[in-house]
Amino acid sequence: MPPAKPAPAPAPDSPPREKSAPQRAMEKLGLARDIDLALHLPLRYEDETRVLSIADAPDGEPVQVEGVVTESRIEQRGRRQLLVRLTDPSESLLLRFLNFYPSHQKTLAVGARVRVRGEARSGFFGREMVHPHFKAVDEHTPLASALTPVYPTSAQLPQAYLRKAVAAALARVPLDEVLPPGTVPAGLPPLREALLRLHHPPAGESMAALEDRSHPAWQRLKFEELLAQQLSQLAAQRERQRLRAPRLRAVPGGLHEQLLAALPFQLTAAQRRVGEEIAADLGRVAAADEGAAADSDGATPMNRLLQGDVGSGKTVVAALAAAVAIDAGWQCALMAPTELLAEQHFRKLVQWLEPLLAARGQSIAWLTGSRKGKARAGMVDKVATGEAALVVGTQAVIQDSVHFARLGLAIIDEQHRFGVAQRLELRRKLALQSLEPHLLMMTATPIPRTLAMTYFADLDVSTIDELPPGRTPVLTKVFADERRSAVIARIADEVAKGRQVYWVCPLIEESEHIDLQNATETHAQLSAALPGMAVGLLHGRLPAAEKAAVMALFAGGQMAVLVATTVIEVGVDVPNASLMVIEHAERFGLSQLHQLRGRVGRGAVASVCVLLYQGPLSPTGKDRLRAMAETTDGFEIARRDLEIRGPGEFMGARQSGDALLRFADLAEDAPLLQRARDAAPPLLARHPAAARAHVARWLDTRADFLKA
Ligand code: ADP
Ligand code: MG
Repeated sequence: MPPAKPAPAPAPDSPPREKSAPQRAMEKLGLARDIDLALHLPLRYEDETRVLSIADAPDGEPVQVEGVVTESRIEQRGRRQLLVRLTDPSESLLLRFLNFYPSHQKTLAVGARVRVRGEARSGFFGREMVHPHFKAVDEHTPLASALTPVYPTSAQLPQAYLRKAVAAALARVPLDEVLPPGTVPAGLPPLREALLRLHHPPAGESMAALEDRSHPAWQRLKFEELLAQQLSQLAAQRERQRLRAPRLRAVPGGLHEQLLAALPFQLTAAQRRVGEEIAADLGRVAAADEGAAADSDGATPMNRLLQGDVGSGKTVVAALAAAVAIDAGWQCALMAPTELLAEQHFRKLVQWLEPLLAARGQSIAWLTGSRKGKARAGMVDKVATGEAALVVGTQAVIQDSVHFARLGLAIIDEQHRFGVAQRLELRRKLALQSLEPHLLMMTATPIPRTLAMTYFADLDVSTIDELPPGRTPVLTKVFADERRSAVIARIADEVAKGRQVYWVCPLIEESEHIDLQNATETHAQLSAALPGMAVGLLHGRLPAAEKAAVMALFAGGQMAVLVATTVIEVGVDVPNASLMVIEHAERFGLSQLHQLRGRVGRGAVASVCVLLYQGPLSPTGKDRLRAMAETTDGFEIARRDLEIRGPGEFMGARQSGDALLRFADLAEDAPLLQRARDAAPPLLARHPAAARAHVARWLDTRADFLKA
């Protein structure tokens, strides 16, 4: 065979082809491939399939009428404007243009026949339309046979340009059915037909069903999308099952047993149950290895979410899991989103584990942003040699310079605060020996069922559904800010009884400065109003050592009132605190309020949470405060939050990428979701090629993202 001719080099003087402004705008909207354009669905439609007589055109609704221009003049009524009278056999209508060009006048000259689209209104000079769309026609110009799509677009991308681009893409893109018969629920149209219908619905199609997305064509699209997601999650699960993690088992008389014996309380039944679920994951022989070696030391990496309401006692469960890993001769990393929270964990874990570890010649390492220099180097060293059996910290734990000798288990608290990238990074910390660490994530924001089924299908979930005994539910009261002085009087009462009080000021994202000023002013106000009482201030700008000192005073009971920005949001544990005041409660999200409220009611005394708000409240603000007053159940709160805010809150960093569900709506489409969930496993098992093609069409590059 002769060698292939080299492709001709591009002429050196031909400049690269410039993209036009609309092309660039299209790319900005993510409309790069034909399939992207085909899936860019109309927001609404215009009906150019019918012409109404002017007399029949209802006021204030978009209509199309047609007539002959009987008058056309320019007038100066305050502003120069073009006034055109359009007449049909039924009546006449005034068209008013405040901006116009000579070409308008030409098309709208007396005697011209035009078709006009707009909203008629009854005005002072009879019925009129302001700035209607118009085009010159003759008696035989056909009407549109389909509804005209109106696409979501941007200022740089004209609707007409986008329409053409979509139509061209639709004609090119292969929309063959990749799914084998029987996969798609009966009664839904083929994909090609569904898309053509949604882009160009035939005249007479129900506009309502199209716009509220209940139309079968919509259902087909939603099903496709949900199926792609289920498939990719399944694939991720299969992939994980091929990976290996160290098999971790507690040893008799080991750290796990010692810790259990040392705890100052009995575990609740729920804590015991989830503890066993986790231990089973850690110690289970990987399915593929079974039989080959019953005593294999390879396990399937755990990918488990531990959910439990605020105060349900997740920390001790984490400590017990860590003990199992350490018993087995591996290290455990515990990562929290903030330094303060990491500190809290550290304190508890130190209390419980340090004496036990010390007796074994092991230690705990502490890695946060504020540990620098020698102290840090020493810690990093202990992690690298394996002397530190437990590593507690913030994101500093996953920095490049940190190497683990034998990371067996990674625990992430408040997982929704971390991104996918950070989770991946943690998993990579044990890249050697082709092993992965086990992963345990903890959250106080329970994931509603439909969400768990879509986004977290590859996640095993353990739930602590019981609080430790002796807690009294927190009573929540909602007051307008005018009642502030009454609330301050209440603080004095509470402190007189020997109790402690939190006062939380909101975080204003745009301005850390104002945020601080708020907290500082409130601190001054409370200090003045509560003479003789120790009132402390805690905010994000304080150096770590000072934060720790303030917290220590409050935790030790020497400080009666703690004014804080949301730095205390998670993890702080002072059982003697019985009153929490949240200022500007209307600025917080529902789950954030719930987390904050969880800081009180940790002891046996009846606790109160006061939500102070500054009116007027928005409807969602009202909903949130009402939800808080009505329930203390974290699951119910999560459900209402999903209703009020949509899924963002639960998704952590996933929400910041593309919205993963563009068409389906979890609240409305639960039945379709169930169908997709049922259809995915047999499809993947029997038609893997079809499954792959389907995922590629729908998720493209996002599929990788879903695996994290
Ligand atoms: P969260 O689930 O919000 O992280 P923590 O782990 O901080 O909750 O636990 C809240 C408080 O309850 C802590 O003071 C903890 O020591 C205590 N606690 C945990 N489990 C029990 C239990 N079984 N009995 C009594 N107190 C418990
Ligand atoms: Mg916690």
